[in-house]
Amino acid sequence: MADVLTRRVFLRRMATGLAAQGLLGVLSPMLPAQTLAGLPPPDTFVPDSGTNATLTPETASRVFDLAMQGQNLLAEGRYEDALRVLRQAAGLSSEDDFVQGLLGRALLATGEQKAAIVHFRTAASLNPEDTYSRMMADMLSQRPAAGGAVANAPAKPLTPLEAAARQEEERMARWLAEQQGAGTGTGYRIRRVVLDPGHGGFDSGAVGSYGLKEKDVNLALALGCAAMLERQAPDLRVFLTRTEDYYVPLSARTAVANQYSADIFISFHCNASENRDARGVETYFCSERASSNEAQRVARFENAVLRYEDTAASAEVTGIEELLFRYERRRYWQAADAAAGFMQQVLAARLQLPDRGVHSADFYVLRKARMPSVLLETGFVSNMQEERLLADSGYRQRIAASVAAGIIRLAGAGRS
Ligand SMILES: [Zn+2]
Repeated sequence: MADVLTRRVFLRRMATGLAAQGLLGVLSPMLPAQTLAGLPPPDTFVPDSGTNATLTPETASRVFDLAMQGQNLLAEGRYEDALRVLRQAAGLSSEDDFVQGLLGRALLATGEQKAAIVHFRTAASLNPEDTYSRMMADMLSQRPAAGGAVANAPAKPLTPLEAAARQEEERMARWLAEQQGAGTGTGYRIRRVVLDPGHGGFDSGAVGSYGLKEKDVNLALALGCAAMLERQAPDLRVFLTRTEDYYVPLSARTAVANQYSADIFISFHCNASENRDARGVETYFCSERASSNEAQRVARFENAVLRYEDTAASAEVTGIEELLFRYERRRYWQAADAAAGFMQQVLAARLQLPDRGVHSADFYVLRKARMPSVLLETGFVSNMQEERLLADSGYRQRIAASVAAGIIRLAGAGRS
């Protein structure tokens, strides 16, 4: 990294770059809170340690200009040109995480997935808080999704940034489709599944009295479920929003699902209550109003990490776009209601836990999903008996298997 001043501008520009990918209001909220915090004020000039600390101000400024140029070319859909300029920037400064992240995007857009992964990884290792690059590296290392248009998306006016983002996404979808041989057609069918292990990193979620952390249970359940789906339903494409113990902003989780045109989004969680006797399994879907005070409480808990994410950036969404999306998502929420009912039935029966039923509330992690999305509360870590169960690997396998069975049956029901 050239210098702190440049870096601050980079980060601000990075938010613009994310907008070009249709991810603004999605990933950028974390930038001011997570990345800019702790940096010296803008008038100080402190070179980072590392090899690039020797960069002269002139070189740093040149790298900055090239990166900006590359980012603008990316936004315009001129991927080859972007690639050329960004390679030049990387030649001058090989340890610039921002340049590395942009290179990843440019390579992905030009169909060089393997090289893209390398640069996304480099970006993430240079800047551990570059969650976007890490996510891209993780996701691309998994099996790519089959192509195909987003089903039934209503026509709506696009801003120039959105149009550029759509272009980049379509290009990526086409490329992914080629990798798979052929697209899988259109219409609503469950082919692509996104599994979302709730919480992670500094956000532990609920913690039990024996010290069991919800984030660890959620990850084990999602990984187990993914492995079972891969074995039992090889025609489903399964993606995870995280594969290790790190923090992913709530809005980034659905952004990933949207980007991969997933057909269903399943978020794994564990419940907690002040009432230590509370136990059992319940399933949620998204609604503007909570279905009960208890549902409201659960949503408030699951949304709590939002205080670390600057949600003001979502104000970028204009009134009309917001209005159209509200209309569109009603369909997803209706389908999610049915999916949640089905999952709840399967889980309660297989796990032989008290059936606490299906509820709905405004879960931030589900709100922006362009697909039916459900949130599973697989048990109470606040209940000593269930905490023991949730800590047990055999029991975790049982939950994972139940969720996998539910998804497979849902997918079967979705096929026509
Ligand atoms: Zn949770």
